[in-house]
Amino acid sequence: MPAQSYVNGRYVLHDSAAVHIEDRGYQFADGVYEVIAIYGGGIVDEKPHMERFFRSLGELNIPPPASARTIAIILREILRRNRITDGALYLQVTRGVAPRNHAHPPDMKPALVVTGRAVRWPQSFAAVQPIAIVGVADERWTRADIKSVSLLPNILARMSADRTGADDAWMIDGAGYVTEGSSSNAWIVSNGDEIITRQLGHSILAGITRQAILKHFGDALKFTERAFTLEEAKGAAEAFQTSTTALVKPVVKIDGSPIGDGKPGGVTKKVFEAYLTHFAAHASAAPSAAPSAAS
Ligand code: PMP
Repeated sequence: MPAQSYVNGRYVLHDSAAVHIEDRGYQFADGVYEVIAIYGGGIVDEKPHMERFFRSLGELNIPPPASARTIAIILREILRRNRITDGALYLQVTRGVAPRNHAHPPDMKPALVVTGRAVRWPQSFAAVQPIAIVGVADERWTRADIKSVSLLPNILARMSADRTGADDAWMIDGAGYVTEGSSSNAWIVSNGDEIITRQLGHSILAGITRQAILKHFGDALKFTERAFTLEEAKGAAEAFQTSTTALVKPVVKIDGSPIGDGKPGGVTKKVFEAYLTHFAAHASAAPSAAPSAAS
């Protein structure tokens, strides 16, 4: 458990950290969040995470609670106060506190919360636990590209996985195509070693892990951004999912059917190893790494 967290301008003991009961995040899920990995004391892919954070705020017309530079300093202070060198930061901004009413006053002061926790990152592919997933209907709203704190359908999807003895769920849209995992982006590998993940749009979150993989390894690996069905995934050579905290996770079973030979695949291993290298290389220590446009 972290020792200290940041709540609306103050560093407070985590155990007693609290927001007001009329915070709109609590009452309406009216807010956004971000999760960022910490590796060797550095903040991994800070710039794209902060850009996505500011974009999510903009899409919901929530004014930024502070400049990007101030937030960058707060993030480092949380790491320092909690002595985190390997871990994850959680940032949340809500529209703020007002008497409960769907409409809100025009001059609201957004609320910022930052917490940090230690994580032990896997250092080799062999250390990563492969997972089984189930397909569930995607019951979310039509703006899954916004990293909203409203995660109820994602939680229900995850509960379906737990009920069936699987580790996680992939969500399926009305046309039968996989959108993404309950808290990850979904990928399959064809029998010709083509790596396929759904194209960006309103129906998935633009994962920063996804973006890093596509951006940095396009020369070495073959990628296609297109939708695929769960049936196609079941017949794929390999499958995996990606996220900030799970990195690259092999999926070895879908709805009870083994994928390929039922073991983590070689292409997934290559993606994992490439991403781990990227992970270490893109951890920034100085606040100056924060995006300048929003500061
Ligand atoms: N999709 C969803 C629904 C998620 O919750 C996450 C994790 N935040 C992702 C995708 C992966 O995004 P990232 O790689 O930025 O963690």
